[in-house]
Amino acid sequence: MTTIQLPELCLVALVGASGSGKTTLARRMFQPGEVLSSDAFRVLVANDENEQSATNDAFDSLYFVARKRLARGLLTVIDATNVQADARRRIVELAREFDVLPVAIALDLPEDTLVERHRSRTDRPFGAHVIAQQAGLLRRSLRKLQAEGFRQVTVLKTGEDVDTVRVERQR
Ligand code: ATP
Repeated sequence: MTTIQLPELCLVALVGASGSGKTTLARRMFQPGEVLSSDAFRVLVANDENEQSATNDAFDSLYFVARKRLARGLLTVIDATNVQADARRRIVELAREFDVLPVAIALDLPEDTLVERHRSRTDRPFGAHVIAQQAGLLRRSLRKLQAEGFRQVTVLKTGEDVDTVRVERQR
């Protein structure tokens, strides 16, 4: 079983394809206000968590709130796929801006598992090829995370890892 030790104040990036369990993990490990989810912000700005045209507005809003939280010294989690280097660069830059530790928790589940989960979901109106694309990007990202500036990197490789991982927070 994996235990992740987090400093009291850090900026956590969840990194994983759709269906890897980011939101489920975030719900289990963090308080509701600590988790800023791109889906939730798409709902706030456009009423629909799948509205891709709302992505820029959703992230602008998400980062606005993230800045307010970090300015207050509050741990913040960004629940988005974050499989693209650009998305992660923005997170590392934000952490540097507030002088907090950028932390990555990557969910690297087998593609078969992701595709199987995707097929049984009715809330994701895109094809399984999108999952394969995201999983590919993730795989290529994993060994770069440290060099990108994430000071602590945890990679969870199975559904069981994701279900059982624990977080200890330093006070
Ligand atoms: P998205 O990026 O699409 O929002 P996500 O990575 O946040 O996805 P979740 O929303 O946590 O993933 O879970 C996606 C789907 O996978 C949900 O339908 C959830 O019920 C299912 N799921 C999550 N964890 C598990 C698990 N350990 N075993 C089986 N199904 C799971």
